[in-house]
Amino acid sequence: MDIDGFRGRLITAGHDDYDAARAVWNGAVDRRPRLIARCGTTADVVAAVRFARDRDLEIAVRGGGHNVAGTAVCDDGIVVDLSHMRAVRVDPVARTARVQGGALWGDVDAGTQAHGLATTGGIVGHTGVAGLTLGGGLGFLMRRHGLTVDNLLAAEVVTADGDLVRASADEHPDLFWALRGGGGNFGAVTTFEFALHPLGPTVTAGPVFWAADDTAEVLRFYRDFVSEAPDELGTVVRLGTVPPLPVVPEELHWRPAVAVACCYAGPVDEGERVLRPLRRFGTPLVDLLAPTPYAAFQGGLDDTVPHGWHYYWKSTGLSGLSDAAVSVIADQAHRAGSPRSYTAVFHMGGAVARVPRGATAYAGRDAAFNIVIDGVWLPGETGERSAAETAWTRRFLQALGPHRGGGVYVNFLDRDDDPARVREAYGDDTYRRLAGVKAAYDPGNAFHHNKNVRPAEPAYLVRSTQSPQSPPPGTW
Ligand SMILES: Cc1cc2nc3c(=O)[nH]c(=O)nc-3n(C[C@H](O)[C@H](O)[C@H](O)COP(=O)(O)OP(=O)(O)OC[C@H]3O[C@@H](n4cnc5c(N)ncnc54)[C@H](O)[C@@H]3O)c2cc1C
Repeated sequence: MDIDGFRGRLITAGHDDYDAARAVWNGAVDRRPRLIARCGTTADVVAAVRFARDRDLEIAVRGGGHNVAGTAVCDDGIVVDLSHMRAVRVDPVARTARVQGGALWGDVDAGTQAHGLATTGGIVGHTGVAGLTLGGGLGFLMRRHGLTVDNLLAAEVVTADGDLVRASADEHPDLFWALRGGGGNFGAVTTFEFALHPLGPTVTAGPVFWAADDTAEVLRFYRDFVSEAPDELGTVVRLGTVPPLPVVPEELHWRPAVAVACCYAGPVDEGERVLRPLRRFGTPLVDLLAPTPYAAFQGGLDDTVPHGWHYYWKSTGLSGLSDAAVSVIADQAHRAGSPRSYTAVFHMGGAVARVPRGATAYAGRDAAFNIVIDGVWLPGETGERSAAETAWTRRFLQALGPHRGGGVYVNFLDRDDDPARVREAYGDDTYRRLAGVKAAYDPGNAFHHNKNVRPAEPAYLVRSTQSPQSPPPGTW
């Protein structure tokens, strides 16, 4: 098979590395595309999208391959695979970074921290920049610097027509709005341009663990503590077991626990002062908070969620951590059957909540926290185990009922989350506006292998003018 103008690698079922090339982070996803077009350049992406369009092929777009729903790979169609396009180019004077569409957050953190700079990225280094950014982008720096999309300056996108367009505040502003939260619905992004901020490189960061029996007390203290904390403090609570990391004493490995992972985006001594009350609360099992290189801290969780394990998630925004919500979380979080299953609670607010509603397509700015309940099992484990972990995540979500608020983060939706949950992620107004932009840039819904926004009826189409500054396909 050949693709006109394509100079990357084409992988089909006949190739030795077909199975490796079609595997995504979630080992429970097993799809067999007809063709994987592994792109090396923007021109390859253009060629692959045009090829798919001309043959009406099912298209999946792959960045980091991390999405739990496995939308980066499809059955039978073509995978436009950007996973080898991982370059990061930093301009330390302008404090910006140009990042290719297949880069991982570890690539960005390494590239930017070399200059003492950073932008909000995910909390696991092997997560893809593209999928995370297009859904919104939560991370330890978001309360100080906003979501990843709040730091997005521009994106270069191959649309369903195979055109390469640049979207920014001044160029295709409707598309630029939609890309900041609307997911992979609008084309294949070959390059992202981000604003950067001075950070570290050493920051006060790390987790503090307490025994699972202390979960309710820890969560109540935590809620009050973070409600007063400065925006510099980013935290994620992790409930489950103590991961068997080399930095953790061996006798604690796999012990049921609750942890608060912290990162202070300010001076080290200020971080130590701000975090003192948290560290002094109760009797921690282990306290790993310390002055730490930010890039190393960002990679700290990588081994706890490896590629190839099987994962199933449920998620929602939370309006707060009332005593009643804390009781539900403390009651449910440690009922998972697998020691690998866990729950993460992201503290929102700060700069995230100060961006006006509607300024971007990310619609969850009212959520005080985001909770993601992660059922995990090993590839060899029986159907019984996967059924039990899946049932636990669903029961947990249901129990949270009255405490839900602020919608759901689209990037935490899993394979069986239906279109109603995609609407829940956006709310009616944002969804309607996204559907209009979708109709303008992808009226045939070529990019539907994602958390899909369906194009609006043609009567509502409004497309901003083609930018004269759209780059030629060879530009990098
Ligand atoms: C362990 C783990 C930790 C996570 N932590 C965080 C976190 O801290 N913060 C957070 O916000 N999210 C987090 N997420 C969720 C994450 O944002 C999503 O999984 C996201 O989809 C990952 O992006 P990716 O490029 O790896 O996705 P992929 O699986 O490659 O793609 C997912 C979808 O994104 C779109 N897409 C991918 N690449 C492109 C591209 N170049 N152009 C256009 N569309 C594209 C496509 O629609 C595709 O179907 C985490 C996920 C995991 C598994």
